[in-house]
Amino acid sequence: MISEFELISKYFRKLTNRAVLGVGDDAALLRCSHDAGIAITTDTLVEGVHFFSDCDPFFLGRKVLAVNFSDLAAMGARPHSVLLSLSLRECEESWLASFSDGLYRMLEEFQVELVGGDTTRADQLVISVTALGDVDIGSALRRDRAQVGDDVWVSGELGLATLALASRDNSVAYPHELLDDCNKRLNNPEPRVALGRRLIGVANCAIDISDGLMADAGHISTQSKVGIAVILDQIPTHRILSQLGLPQKDLVSLISGGDDYELLFTCSRSRENDIGTLSRELKIPITKIGAVVEGRGVILKDRFGKIVEVDRPGYEHFSRRT
Ligand code: ADP
Ligand code: MG
Repeated sequence: MISEFELISKYFRKLTNRAVLGVGDDAALLRCSHDAGIAITTDTLVEGVHFFSDCDPFFLGRKVLAVNFSDLAAMGARPHSVLLSLSLRECEESWLASFSDGLYRMLEEFQVELVGGDTTRADQLVISVTALGDVDIGSALRRDRAQVGDDVWVSGELGLATLALASRDNSVAYPHELLDDCNKRLNNPEPRVALGRRLIGVANCAIDISDGLMADAGHISTQSKVGIAVILDQIPTHRILSQLGLPQKDLVSLISGGDDYELLFTCSRSRENDIGTLSRELKIPITKIGAVVEGRGVILKDRFGKIVEVDRPGYEHFSRRT
């Protein structure tokens, strides 16, 4: 069996260009540019909580980066470096090889460097990444900048990752042609880094909706001290999903379920054309789903203006699940 240090060298040590010193010393050394700020975030995936034990390690390597890049995207930041903290039950080389492959391919796609981390043994598989990105501090996209009168927009199509989860325990019957799309959203989400960067100077406020649209809109409401009104029928879902004619309650559960690595943002009404251009250029659907209003809290309405009840607005680790 290989040792901890052999493991690190074999699977997690590659030369870096941007970092002056990467994996191998007590700490990495990065050069700071004087005019840019640093956005820094961390997110963890725990076996049994965030992923199933049979999850393909290649996609876990991607997803642990995607969830972090999504947070940087929501700030309008450009990811450049990550640290990886791994708690492993055992040193299974086939698992490590595949995990490392998925991780490095995603790093290359986004031109990000792995500059350090930590490796320990534990009873449960825990994978944690800390990601750093460049952003101009004054123009970073924050949660506390929504303005009354802004439109509320969301990228992508919501609900498919939650549907993939529901399909595992057969709690929802759904059309077979959605299986690949659902599993892709759950296992291989695409962080909206390019969109986040392009929203700088366009959006007033942004958040990623990994915990669920309604819950995350609630954070904007609280932090910006505004109300958010969302129209259920305008929330984008997959074409096939919207054709299913699901009961309203099920549709609300799907769009609030979380694991959608999309951006929710607000911007002034005068920016509508800019959003259309962004959507075309980036080839990402971006949909207007509501407005920022006076007051507090998030309300969901149907197309007739009737309030729709939301039982569980999003995922929370310490809430009791019924
Ligand atoms: P220290 O004992 O100083 O904490 P470690 O022995 O934990 O250092 O790690 C040795 C080097 O390997 C460090 O540069 C650390 O950042 C890096 N490293 C450890 N684990 C990982 C990992 N999972 N991914 C990337 N780099 C790692
Ligand atoms: Mg260490």
